[in-house]
Amino acid sequence: MGDLLIRNVRVMQPGDGVVGNSLRVAGGKIEAIGCNDDEPSGDAKVIDGGGRLLTPGLIDIHTHGLQKFLYEAGPDPLKDCSRLLGQYGTTTVLPTLYTVMNRPSLAKLKSLADAMASVKDVCFPGFHLEGPFLALPGAGAETIPGDVGLLKELLDATSGRVTAMSISPDTPNILPVIECLRREGVAPFITHTQATVEQTTAAIDAGAQHATHFYNVFPPPKVPEPGVHPAGAIEAILADPRCFVDFICDGVHVHPIVIRAAVAAKGWQGVILITDSNIGAGIPSGRYDTPWGFSVKVAAGDATRIDAPGHKNHGLLAGSALTMDVGMSNLLHWLDLPAEQVWAMGTVNPARLLGLENKGNLCCGADADFVLWDEEDGQLQASRTWVGGRCVFQR
Ligand SMILES: [Zn+2]
Repeated sequence: MGDLLIRNVRVMQPGDGVVGNSLRVAGGKIEAIGCNDDEPSGDAKVIDGGGRLLTPGLIDIHTHGLQKFLYEAGPDPLKDCSRLLGQYGTTTVLPTLYTVMNRPSLAKLKSLADAMASVKDVCFPGFHLEGPFLALPGAGAETIPGDVGLLKELLDATSGRVTAMSISPDTPNILPVIECLRREGVAPFITHTQATVEQTTAAIDAGAQHATHFYNVFPPPKVPEPGVHPAGAIEAILADPRCFVDFICDGVHVHPIVIRAAVAAKGWQGVILITDSNIGAGIPSGRYDTPWGFSVKVAAGDATRIDAPGHKNHGLLAGSALTMDVGMSNLLHWLDLPAEQVWAMGTVNPARLLGLENKGNLCCGADADFVLWDEEDGQLQASRTWVGGRCVFQR
């Protein structure tokens, strides 16, 4: 990879703030962060950043698709998505699968995993499997009891390319699944649940350390009698310092006050931005066909909605249309925190959760995944994006 010197930028280290005005890359890694009078070494390419903000690339740990493509639809859509992510400032993604975790789909899982290995424009550490051992349905996810045998077949089919799996603490026989995931180095995420405090704590004790699209498909427990407020999975997770949480930060799936409450409980290090994006994310407003047998409507500032006039589900949520650049812009507006702490929620926090030591930071030795941002009227827009020191997007 050609060496690179970017000057005249504000280098943002998440959690710390602006730590320099220039950044030097060699061999796909960050070699140095310094000041503007740095001289290029040898034939290094020099870029003037025009005073813009330079941050680590954004990391999305829960996303099903983008524009007109679903990751799980096949190797070609998976690769199509990978080429589109740079324009949103996203450099690392866990493609999230939800309808292919069954024995008839093992060959398809293998073809997806093989395709993943050839992707260059974004980093795919591994898949996020949303199911099948979930307690509550939602968005097509499967709901079957915990089955370590099936889990091992799924992990084998992907040649070990699984980074996270979403489970529910109230799924029968789930604890052996969580223990197996931990042994295999896969992060168990809690979701789609109406678990009790005891079930949730047992799942965390077994090794679940994160809750995904927190509050969405986490229905509250039944009120046992007037005057009594029951507690369940949400309270158990908020109260447990071992557990991180993530949110779909589109202003539709949760009210911003919910995110502020989680920051108050967990600190800025314990909260993560996700998109949970699907077909419809990142494209202009309009009506689009899907592989699901109905059309969807996309409108600015809203989630994707079912467009089937006359059908009972017309107008209901069909998924998230969020992209990481918009999610980060929203968080910077909503949270009364220093910007460097908000940036951590889309960069170093997910990297730390997944043990991706070289991601999410702008420091010596880190992977050269970063984004030069335009900021207009408080909206972030990627100007240029690099993955492993290679420019994958330029506006
Ligand atoms: Zn999802």
